Amino acid sequence: MPYIYDDQNVFAKILRGEIPNDTVLETEHTLAFRDIGPQTPDHVLVIPKGSYVTQDHFSQEASDAEIVDFNRAVGRICATLGVSPGDGGAGYRTISNAGTDAVQEVPHFHLHILAGRPLGRMIGKG
Ligand code: AMP
Repeated sequence: MPYIYDDQNVFAKILRGEIPNDTVLETEHTLAFRDIGPQTPDHVLVIPKGSYVTQDHFSQEASDAEIVDFNRAVGRICATLGVSPGDGGAGYRTISNAGTDAVQEVPHFHLHILAGRPLGRMIGKG
């Protein structure tokens, strides 16, 4: 079944400027802002400006320019946060929740960047 994008989701409202956000980086195709309920000292959400529901949706339907822009933005954010292990940082974790099993709350593709403390093992027991 094809994806149907709900343009009333909270990140769509952020992109339209209807609700505020704490922006970390904005580029032509990508917006990154701090999570309103941070799970770690640094918790940044990276979203494409286009209407994509999940990472697989984005990966399959976004343009090359959007995909490159998004991935370059992730690198820039890690550098800005000072968390890149390649630059002496203590590291980070990225998570992208998709659909019901992953308990995706906001149906606009977003990558969580979590950092700022030891993060433990990869995944809980659910
Ligand atoms: P997920 O469960 O992967 O869909 O995560 C959605 C995330 O969006 C959660 O971590 C929320 O805290 C975050 N969130 C919800 N509303 C806002 C908002 N207005 N600004 C920033 N982050 C938000």
